[in-house]
Amino acid sequence: MTVFPIENHCYCGNAKPFTECCYQYISGNTAAPTAETLMRSRFSAFCIKDPDYLLETLHKDPRAKESRKALLRSFGNTQWRSLKIIRSHQGAGGQRRGAVEFAAFFVEGEKGGQLHERSRFEFEDGRWFYTDGDILPPITVPRNEPCWCGSGRKLKKCHPD
Ligand SMILES: [Zn+2]
Ligand SMILES: [Zn+2]
Repeated sequence: MTVFPIENHCYCGNAKPFTECCYQYISGNTAAPTAETLMRSRFSAFCIKDPDYLLETLHKDPRAKESRKALLRSFGNTQWRSLKIIRSHQGAGGQRRGAVEFAAFFVEGEKGGQLHERSRFEFEDGRWFYTDGDILPPITVPRNEPCWCGSGRKLKKCHPD
């Protein structure tokens, strides 16, 4: 595990410490109650590069094709920096399926990038699992908003374009 995020914000962007947010699910203490909380905790697991949680929360069909080695390799030097949930569809307690559209931002060396995806989730055996997702075109972040990289500067002065 790498260092915890600063200022009592979880990696997923919620205004509470990691230990009171996604870590509860990643540590296995409790199961994520909704598709969105699972999605957030998977994002946080990418931030701390925890392959076990990512495999455990992957639905068994895609999991059969994913290897721990490939996952570790995919972490590479990518640092996930922030998450913007765009919308959630279903995925609440008592439902079988859910979808979450999000934009996740990362840096790789000097370069920044974004993953805009609509992910699908299924509820099985009392837990939510990620099944698959569709990659969508990047969203536009307003240039006067704080940069997604967490620098505290405006986007246009930090990671423009
Ligand atoms: Zn969180
Ligand atoms: Zn930036």
